[in-house]
Amino acid sequence: MSPPVTNALTVDVEDYFHVSAFADTIAREDWDRHECRVEANTRRLLDLFERHRTLATFFVLGWVAERYPALVREIAARGHEVACHGYSHRLVYEQTPDEFRAETLRAKATLEDQVQCPVLGYRAASYSITRDSLWALDILAEAGFGYDSSIFPVHHDRYGIPDAPTTPYCMTTANGGQLVEFPLSTYRLLGYRLPMAGGGYFRLYPYAFTRMALRAINRAGQPFIFYLHPWEVDPDQPRIAASRLSRFRHYNNLDRCEQRLDRLLGAFSFTTARSVLEGLEAWGKTPCGIAAHA
Ligand SMILES: [Zn+2]
Repeated sequence: MSPPVTNALTVDVEDYFHVSAFADTIAREDWDRHECRVEANTRRLLDLFERHRTLATFFVLGWVAERYPALVREIAARGHEVACHGYSHRLVYEQTPDEFRAETLRAKATLEDQVQCPVLGYRAASYSITRDSLWALDILAEAGFGYDSSIFPVHHDRYGIPDAPTTPYCMTTANGGQLVEFPLSTYRLLGYRLPMAGGGYFRLYPYAFTRMALRAINRAGQPFIFYLHPWEVDPDQPRIAASRLSRFRHYNNLDRCEQRLDRLLGAFSFTTARSVLEGLEAWGKTPCGIAAHA
């Protein structure tokens, strides 16, 4: 008999003005001038998850962690996994390896100081580990991360490795490091790999389509990994003047997102990314193991 499938629920903890879609419009130096809504919106998600008795992984941006240490501690105190979303939200392939190493270590150390336990998971800003930035995986393994969830195996203008594996796997990085990759979930339709399971795609597709695709992934015995941002349950956030495409990607169906998420949490079983990977490890599916890093 195959094991029951529990999926990974993940949140990238950043504010509406951090997103890559607005990076051309909002300078990093001006971030502090914007009204911060990440704390209230993350609490909204924490309360929703609590109502569903569901645990999740929160990939926290270092910039947010430095300003809201109580929020990070609250995430951990409520039983969730705290993981790392880098420091500056700069795309990995736009950084040098030295810059990436410095900001990743800074974010990881801040989070570990706040939660007083090892931070094992990493997710890059806008899934920006691509063929041009695979060197980042070496740095993540060296920094002591056990798993990465930054590779989206699709075509996209900003991210993606279209032919990368679609299910969790153990990899040996170029320098001989070991890392588990939990790729963002996809669904095969008419010969195309469609990005699924979160964010703008969750807001774009009709809920019934998302549910059908995610059920198909689970029927095949695979967990999916769902991701969301706190600003996606905040339809009242200040509007940013950006390109039409960026505005569509950011604002489309914001007012429906929380209700859809509530339905999704009722329809599927979820836990942290780390627990899902440890479960797969126990079943012998990802032999290199993340537990060794704990
Ligand atoms: Zn992000």
